[in-house]
Amino acid sequence: MKVMIIESVHASAVELLAKSAEVVFPEPQNLEGILKAIVDCDGLIARGTAVSREVMLAGPKLKAIGRHGVGYDSVDIAAATELRIPVVYTPAANTESVAELAAGFIICAGRKIIEANRFMQSEKLLSDTVTMQAMTKRVGLVNANIGGKTLGIIGVGRIGSLIAQKMIAGFNMKVLGYDPYVDEKTLAGYGVKKVDRLEDMLPLCDFVSLNCPGGAETRKMINAATLALMKPNAYLINTARGSVVDEEALVKAVRSKKIAGAATDVFDPEPPVKGSPITHEDAIIVTPHIGAQTEESLINMGRVVVQEVLSVLEGRKPQFFVNPEVWEKRRK
Ligand code: NAD
Repeated sequence: MKVMIIESVHASAVELLAKSAEVVFPEPQNLEGILKAIVDCDGLIARGTAVSREVMLAGPKLKAIGRHGVGYDSVDIAAATELRIPVVYTPAANTESVAELAAGFIICAGRKIIEANRFMQSEKLLSDTVTMQAMTKRVGLVNANIGGKTLGIIGVGRIGSLIAQKMIAGFNMKVLGYDPYVDEKTLAGYGVKKVDRLEDMLPLCDFVSLNCPGGAETRKMINAATLALMKPNAYLINTARGSVVDEEALVKAVRSKKIAGAATDVFDPEPPVKGSPITHEDAIIVTPHIGAQTEESLINMGRVVVQEVLSVLEGRKPQFFVNPEVWEKRRK
């Protein structure tokens, strides 16, 4: 069996896979290399790289696609299903690390930690005549406690519910949740109050955290109209997918002070193009999709994706199946 790993994964996962299959890497590491290597591969493991119909069609022996991560919007699921190729993924493998990043974003944005750091490093707050506290006030660094404020979560699944629990336990935040697919009782179990309409929740929040999947249904859910419903002192936190936000509208809302700021780990497109306004705005904290980039998450995701791909290739029904309807008629 031959399995291609497109981008680097944790060394322990490569070792695990090598016990049961020949491991190949695309050379060069781009579409050209992928199309060349896929020709005789039985399996494919991808992180952020798009797994398109073109890639699948180039692999006549391809019998399993593994997505190293939670969202699988980078894989053309319709094409895989049509071609009868099972797609597996690694839900829950990085829940803790993404929830921690979102919590960090809430604290850094709300307490203006990154802006304060930037001011200190620039030495703009240092004066012979004015105290640092007075300068802090002058440049707008006075901020507000997180404790007791309202957090609205869009998509209260694994990550969203863990963020809620952490922010309630750590900061006594009041948490509201907009998720059409989770009932009131389940949300109450996390300490979250269900709100049925996004439009009703946004005006109540000091922080809005996006934790729903990407894809057609949530595309640009946060846009000029929904941003206009947020409070002027509110922050938008995005550790979900760049596609959920209209980036141009977000930059405009921040520049015109319709909202106080934002923090985002994800972009649309990803990576953002050079010079993209969203990566050059003082009131928008940006990180390079590091939500799951912890040692623990990388080990978990690597192990689970390898086990799941091997399950499919060895004829066992996988646990984390994106398109289970293909199982009985899958390519053999
Ligand atoms: P999950 O499936 O457990 O939770 C997603 C929740 O969103 C579900 O409860 C679902 O009902 C809800 N939802 C679906 N459509 C919605 C809609 N239209 N409006 C509101 N809610 C909706 O997934 P998870 O493990 O919590 O991950 C959430 C998302 O986080 C993933 O889909 C992925 O895009 C993103 N993610 C990002 C990183 C990162 O590195 N930044 C890492 C992991 C996951």
